[in-house]
Amino acid sequence: MGKIAIAIHGGAGTILSAEMTPEKEIAYKNALKEALSAGYIVLENGGSALDAVEQAVIILEDCPLFNAARGAVFNANGAHEMDASIMDGSNRDAGAVSGVDGIKNPVALARKVMEKTEHVLLMGEGAMEFAKTIGFPILEKDYFFDEFRYQQWLSIRDSDNFQLDHSIKKDQKYGTVGAVATDGEGNVAAATSTGGMTNKKFGRVGDSPIIGAGTYASNHTCAVSCTGSGEFFIKSVVAYDVSCLMEYKGLSLSEACMEAVQKRLKALGGDGGLVAVDPQGNICMEFNTPGMYRACKDSEGKEEILIYR
Ligand code: ASP
Repeated sequence: MGKIAIAIHGGAGTILSAEMTPEKEIAYKNALKEALSAGYIVLENGGSALDAVEQAVIILEDCPLFNAARGAVFNANGAHEMDASIMDGSNRDAGAVSGVDGIKNPVALARKVMEKTEHVLLMGEGAMEFAKTIGFPILEKDYFFDEFRYQQWLSIRDSDNFQLDHSIKKDQKYGTVGAVATDGEGNVAAATSTGGMTNKKFGRVGDSPIIGAGTYASNHTCAVSCTGSGEFFIKSVVAYDVSCLMEYKGLSLSEACMEAVQKRLKALGGDGGLVAVDPQGNICMEFNTPGMYRACKDSEGKEEILIYR
């Protein structure tokens, strides 16, 4: 079995230690550790990178601290519209859902789109109909309600502003979750899940369910999951850009992530970050914001759970 590795994120933004209580910091780190361990165990038991990223993201979706599934932000109509995607680097199969509500784990639904349909992305009503057809339970709104995110929305709902999660300043808040992994066979995979942005327009789709923008995986290069100002990640095609920089320019994983996040995304005005792995099990966690909830672990003894720069 080759080197195994996993990296996860819980969103990037103006996350400052001055704004954090010790209790909150411990809660975030515990949640990251739980998700990291859940994904790592899959790899350790010889499971696939695809299973590992799905498992890690499910744990993060189930935790209300993060802006994905349970704890998702509110849109301009006071509703939840969740996006998720997953990609298998071994064959570049991909699945995604956009604008779904009532789904406990949108990443699991994205995987079903990949496995049970000929399509890559199902949105809104069609995605919900598909979920019902394959027996996904539709949960009540209460399950997704989070008081903190509700207050966030109330404070800006009468404006034209929309904001991302996890920070103090309105225009610097991000909170998506994601995971990337390399399994013992050298296969890579990536998954991303989000509630999007507080007070986003009804129907707005960010980068998270867009293959190439928020999520990408190819065994030839890398697996990438992004978080940040989605519109800029779409315009910069960040996840695929990292892969292209490796494939066409011969950059290493960390050089490619640095170029994509610190130079190209930044030049356009985009804030955020990503986690990435390559088939050799190298890990990169790059961001251009003050903080990003992140963690990684590999079979050579590396283990990190970090929040600030
Ligand atoms: N990228 C996500 C979006 O734009 C938000 C985030 O990362 O928090 O929907």
